[in-house]
Amino acid sequence: MTAVLRAEGLGKKYGSRWALSDCDLDVPDGHVAGLVGPNGAGKTTLLNLAVGQLTPTAGHIRVLGERPGSGPAQLAKVGFVAQDTPTYPGLTIAEHLRLGARLNPGWDDALARDRIARLGLDPGRKAGRLSGGQRAQLALTLGIAKRPRLLVLDEPVAALDPLARREFLQGLMEAAAEHQLSVLLSSHLVSDLERVCDYLVVLVDSRVRVAGEVDHLLATHHRLTGPRRDP
Ligand code: ATP
Repeated sequence: MTAVLRAEGLGKKYGSRWALSDCDLDVPDGHVAGLVGPNGAGKTTLLNLAVGQLTPTAGHIRVLGERPGSGPAQLAKVGFVAQDTPTYPGLTIAEHLRLGARLNPGWDDALARDRIARLGLDPGRKAGRLSGGQRAQLALTLGIAKRPRLLVLDEPVAALDPLARREFLQGLMEAAAEHQLSVLLSSHLVSDLERVCDYLVVLVDSRVRVAGEVDHLLATHHRLTGPRRDP
């Protein structure tokens, strides 16, 4: 099966410090995969390598079988919702959609408009007048309407309140199923990811500690700790 992300001995160094080291990964296609780890673990570094915004200091990375950022066709297959809300406060929602159409050859305008309508958002509203949750939904809509094969999101719910978190993650899960989208998203909270992800990568101190299908990880946990006894 194709790997959505394959890494071998992948590392990235800033100055003399390794932000990511000896990373071996084989994330299968067709999953909502989660990358979890505490602040400074190297999540943003790994995601930026995956979308071609950084180049490795060591090792190799392939996304959908190709080197990230190796050309326009490869870049079109990968959507990225970066950590700092990637919207423009002075532009309306409709202007964001028009911008998306101009920048992305595979843009699906009907999908974008339909999603904005389903969210109950006024296309004439400026992004700067939206709540944090609505801005995150706009960023997600822009990412999905590009019609990528893989959507990468860096801590998309970190700044949201619990209700907005749930709504965003639910919408993401539904969009992944509806549009046959593979997803890779990061969070420093496993509680954000356990509801939506079927594959998990745990990153601590710049190293991958464990990676695998959530069902398999839970089965291993149960095998090692025995049957659960409720208090
Ligand atoms: P957070 O949850 O806080 O965003 P993270 O898991 O995404 O953290 P990274 O942002 O990848 O972690 O950072 C990993 C390490 O690399 C941190 O110690 C960080 O300070 C360092 N780092 C990140 N970017 C740079 C940079 N441009 N120059 C120097 N050091 C950096």
